[in-house]
Amino acid sequence: MARHATTRERLLEANERYAARPRSARALPAEPARQLAILTCMDARLDPLRFAGLREGDAHVIRNAGGRASDDAIRSLVLSAAVLGTREWLVVHHTRCVLAGATDADVRRRVRAGLREAGTHVAPARLHGVDGLAMPDPAQALVDDVRRIREHPLVSAAVEISGWVLDVASGRLAEVPEATAAGRPLAGPVGAAG
Ligand SMILES: [Zn+2]
Repeated sequence: MARHATTRERLLEANERYAARPRSARALPAEPARQLAILTCMDARLDPLRFAGLREGDAHVIRNAGGRASDDAIRSLVLSAAVLGTREWLVVHHTRCVLAGATDADVRRRVRAGLREAGTHVAPARLHGVDGLAMPDPAQALVDDVRRIREHPLVSAAVEISGWVLDVASGRLAEVPEATAAGRPLAGPVGAAG
């Protein structure tokens, strides 16, 4: 538990400094100033505000394992635009992602092993709860995520959606044209049949 206490102490110390610094964030509106939302991976090496040159109040940042367009991520994006006025969404995946090149079966295995190590044994069927995160083909996963967001019935055609990859080694962000193309609004009543 000593380690836990240290984490807590550090956290509170850092927060003391954070709260003491002169800042105007309190006065900011809830609506992101740049009308921007970023969906990205929870990877600890990514700092979305810094890699995108943003400050508090500028953008929504929605994170999960892989930066995947899960139902939960999409419903946050829906609110982001419809309630809080964002008009541009970036889906940002990255190199060296733990989920890249993995299959659902790989992820299940790793989760199971991690749980076992921690003394928790679960029935294999329960491990399907982590399906859908793996990216056996990372390039395709980005295109699929952008498309899934675009095709969602609660996503307005007025929102711009693009796909990007952040290179963890260089820090460079590169737009992926196939993904951005998948984010363009559907022309005409294509979705009528669905
Ligand atoms: Zn990742």
